Amino acid sequence: MSHDASLWIELIFVVLLAAALGSFANVLIYRLPRMLLRQEGGADHQNAFNIATPASFCPQCRHPIRWWHNIPLLSFIGLRGRCAYCQQSIPSRYFWVELGTVVWALLSVWMFGLTWQALSGFVFLYLLWIASWIDALHFLLPDVLNAALFGIGLMVVVFFAQGDVWMVLMRALLAAAFGYLILWLPYFAYLKWRGVEGLGLGDCKLLAAIGCWQGIAAVPNVLLFACVLALVFGVLLASLRRQVLRSLKIPFGPFISAGALVQMLMMHGHFKLFV
Ligand SMILES: [Zn+2]
Repeated sequence: MSHDASLWIELIFVVLLAAALGSFANVLIYRLPRMLLRQEGGADHQNAFNIATPASFCPQCRHPIRWWHNIPLLSFIGLRGRCAYCQQSIPSRYFWVELGTVVWALLSVWMFGLTWQALSGFVFLYLLWIASWIDALHFLLPDVLNAALFGIGLMVVVFFAQGDVWMVLMRALLAAAFGYLILWLPYFAYLKWRGVEGLGLGDCKLLAAIGCWQGIAAVPNVLLFACVLALVFGVLLASLRRQVLRSLKIPFGPFISAGALVQMLMMHGHFKLFV
């Protein structure tokens, strides 16, 4: 087989795998916040499920979804974004989440080739992608996602460590602590000053986990990118909706994630995802 042909087969494999993982991302985005909110509030029998059961169903008519209606990307296009049973429209989010996952996988492969680095880069973006959607939809950054990002980040840093593993580990932990504090200070100040949370502790944990992956020098960059992006978004949204910027509530998680993506793209020049 020629080199080109095998490359295409590998790329198709990456796309199929990423699309399937995108489908799983949709499951997490739908179920994870509902599971967490159910733990906090009273039992809601309609939402009594975990990640694995029951099988996928239409959120509107609750009809179980057949596997051929559940093929990533294609089914949404084939059904023209409508449930096959009740004909109600399926949120286009399902499509974008899957497409985004494929894009992150291709971006990782483009940056690092078919390597372990590409795999870890993809895992990094995949977790940020899921966390961002949950935050955008529910103003919630689940601890379990932050913990996964942090834990996997530590493992990845150790895996790619050159030289003293303990030094690398300590540097990652220091970066995480710095990431947490740099957001916790304004969080705490705002809480004392206004009596309400302007940020969430989830945002602090997210930046801590990102610090673990990208290193201490990246933390201020990620935060700066996040603030600029959030400000631009806020001004645009406020002008579109003619709403006062002060009364606008914007989840910060997606912007921190986008900041980490920008940082990753910038570090690509040095071919370093991790410091
Ligand atoms: Zn339906």
